[in-house]
Amino acid sequence: MATTKHTCGGPVFGRKTPGCPRCDELLAGAEPVRWDTRRRFDDARRAAEIRAHDCTENRCGPVCTAFDW
Ligand SMILES: [Zn+2]
Ligand SMILES: [Zn+2]
Repeated sequence: MATTKHTCGGPVFGRKTPGCPRCDELLAGAEPVRWDTRRRFDDARRAAEIRAHDCTENRCGPVCTAFDW
């Protein structure tokens, strides 16, 4: 995991700032793609967990709060 920090304050709407060490990394590398892949995986796993979740068994009450974001 990279530890490079933005000196630009972070990308704004995905726009990178040349000269910022972290933005230069992002411009040069595959990090955002890898992160997107992982996020898709997490979403898919979460959806499976929600489908498998049993409100009665977990005593959620009238409104299920088990998977509030
Ligand atoms: Zn930056
Ligand atoms: Zn529930």
